Amino acid sequence: GATKVPMSLFDKDRYINYQRIEDNLAVVRSRLNRPLTLSEKILYGHLDNPHDADIRPGASYLKLRPDRVACQDATAQMALLQFMSAGLPTVAVPTTVHCDHLIEAQVGGEKDLERAKNINKEVYDFLATCTAKYGIGFWKPGSGIIHQIILENYAFPGGLMIGTDSHTPNAGGLGMIAVGVGGADAVDVIADLPWELKCPKRIGVHLKGAISGWTTPKDVILKVAGILTVKGGTGAIIEYFGEGVTSLSCTGMATICNMGAEIGATTSLFPYNNRMGDYLDATKRPEIRKYAESFAHNLRPDENADYDQVIEINLSELEPHINGPYTPDLATPLSKFAQAVKDNNWPDKLSVGLIGSCTNSSYEDMSRAASIADEAAAHGLKAKSGFTITPGSEQIRATIARDGQMESLEKIGGTVLANACGPCIGQWDRQDVPKGTKNSIITSYNRNFTGRNDANTATHAFVASPDLVTAMVFGGSLSFNPVTDSLKGADGKEFKFSDPSGKELPPRGYDAGENTYQAPPADRASVNVIVDPKSDRLQLLSPFKPWDGKDPQNLPILIKAKGKCTTDHISAGGPWLKYRGHLENISQNCLIGAINEANGEANKVQNQITGEWGGVPQVGAAYRDQGVGWVVIGDENYGEDETNLKKQGMLPLNFKNPADYDRVKPDDRVDLVGIKELAEGSEVTMRLHHKDGSTEEIPLTHTFNAGQIAWHRAGSALNHMAKSKQ
Ligand code: SF4
Repeated sequence: GATKVPMSLFDKDRYINYQRIEDNLAVVRSRLNRPLTLSEKILYGHLDNPHDADIRPGASYLKLRPDRVACQDATAQMALLQFMSAGLPTVAVPTTVHCDHLIEAQVGGEKDLERAKNINKEVYDFLATCTAKYGIGFWKPGSGIIHQIILENYAFPGGLMIGTDSHTPNAGGLGMIAVGVGGADAVDVIADLPWELKCPKRIGVHLKGAISGWTTPKDVILKVAGILTVKGGTGAIIEYFGEGVTSLSCTGMATICNMGAEIGATTSLFPYNNRMGDYLDATKRPEIRKYAESFAHNLRPDENADYDQVIEINLSELEPHINGPYTPDLATPLSKFAQAVKDNNWPDKLSVGLIGSCTNSSYEDMSRAASIADEAAAHGLKAKSGFTITPGSEQIRATIARDGQMESLEKIGGTVLANACGPCIGQWDRQDVPKGTKNSIITSYNRNFTGRNDANTATHAFVASPDLVTAMVFGGSLSFNPVTDSLKGADGKEFKFSDPSGKELPPRGYDAGENTYQAPPADRASVNVIVDPKSDRLQLLSPFKPWDGKDPQNLPILIKAKGKCTTDHISAGGPWLKYRGHLENISQNCLIGAINEANGEANKVQNQITGEWGGVPQVGAAYRDQGVGWVVIGDENYGEDETNLKKQGMLPLNFKNPADYDRVKPDDRVDLVGIKELAEGSEVTMRLHHKDGSTEEIPLTHTFNAGQIAWHRAGSALNHMAKSKQ
């Protein structure tokens, strides 16, 4: 009979479906008649309908059926509130929620965690009860960082996953296609809608030689980022292959895939090999290893598979790299770095080194860092710079506490932070330098954009392997090169670090540590979802109203935005992130960054009914209260995520002739003709009523397909879904 291997130890009755991949590929192969890359095999193996799918890399859209969904606590709030509003009893695919983003690093792991539990109590209570109600696995604060927990427990070769976080691709280290998405995509999938993805292009990275010495897997992606730059991976899946792959540990491959997000890649992926098998064994999933091995022909690319672009890297010649400051693609080889620090006048003194995070906190990473710390300690040295360690999960924390690496790192002056994002996402109550002071830090994280870690725009943040970060805190300066330079020990004698060494996997097995997982209860009917009606962070949602069936008439223009109007102008971040679960409160940032063409100012628009001037959110709310709809006129780059707008019931339309943008006056009234007849490829006419009484008509186009038109009519994609399930 069919093999039944559970997807994870937590989903005992949900099975890995390799048969679907096999069946889908038989159809796709007969249609395409060409060799396939690995990412093509896994993606097309998850097509909703392989017979009709339009498969053109870089051009068409694929409708896919992911195996699982993962959400972090910041993005989960709105996604779950939306899911609740649809009235469905349970999520359609295995799903987990992870509490990791809201924990601020202040003094150290335990105290910081307790503080976060108090500050975020209402959010955690909501997530705990909502996940229980709808059949979602819940990882409590302190359990660890989403991507590490996914790798340890849920990722499997040949799987397809989406996650509401940009570094979801981390699971590519276990041969899974894992893509970071917005909350709306996650809602679709848990509500049983197929997930739409632009058919990715394929970038191959051919790894030759073998890694050794101070060079680590992190240096592979630092090098790739330097080659491809922050935009180079856009719309593509990066697929690694070649004999060099076997010299990388599974967790090292995960590091490489994780940071592929920095070059804009849809995701990154490795072919199945024994290193993945060993990791599956170590994480108590030997059945998955066996099953993957029996399916290995579909977990590697076909011979002569065709890539859109191929990069070659010889690991035997690859140097350690340091990337930054301010951008992750400014890659400098270690041997040239001290000179670059001088040439660019980067602050040479190293203030803080930070290791760990979802990117680099494997047992191997921690062991190698500890080997460096031990050697320095043997020479009587302590860290000259600040030094923090962020374990990626409770399992890693408990295991390095048991096996001694934590002691080694603490002994030389390191502070172990909570198993959470912490300084990586700016949750860092940094006290060692005043805001505005020019200084340097180096991390083993993935991102280093201005102000990301400590909200200080003068902080020069560099990214490197945990090995280099650890060694450099003993040098205390950016120009210290541990491969070539000596340090003076406490005895006055000079010494040079040996090559770092460390075990890939814990010889005594992982220690799971504290149990921080909450499984959904068997009786879910009695679970009450807790949302405090007085909360300013959470608010229950009601479904959006369906379209009234009429062509809109006489609509005021809320704002005619001039110039750049990106997602940051439409929905600012920073302090607003706190309100991600409260639609009314987060709406107070709606379009406040956009420049009004009428007066050249931000967040000041005229209410076309009263004539008064006010903020964009306030005027929009005033229209709503009077039952008046409105339009926003944007420039070329407005609303990058068109599909998301459609899902929320909005009507994104484009000027047929872009120059017509200039014919719209901010105080025009607008009729839209042709909404009733909206069909794939149809035209809509915008009739402008100018203030002087004249009118003119402007042709508009749209990109709705038949399915999306149904979303608009129902008021949202979710409404449509809920209706069709009744
Ligand atoms: Fe994102 Fe950093 Fe958290 Fe990783 S550790 S999930 S990169 S915030």
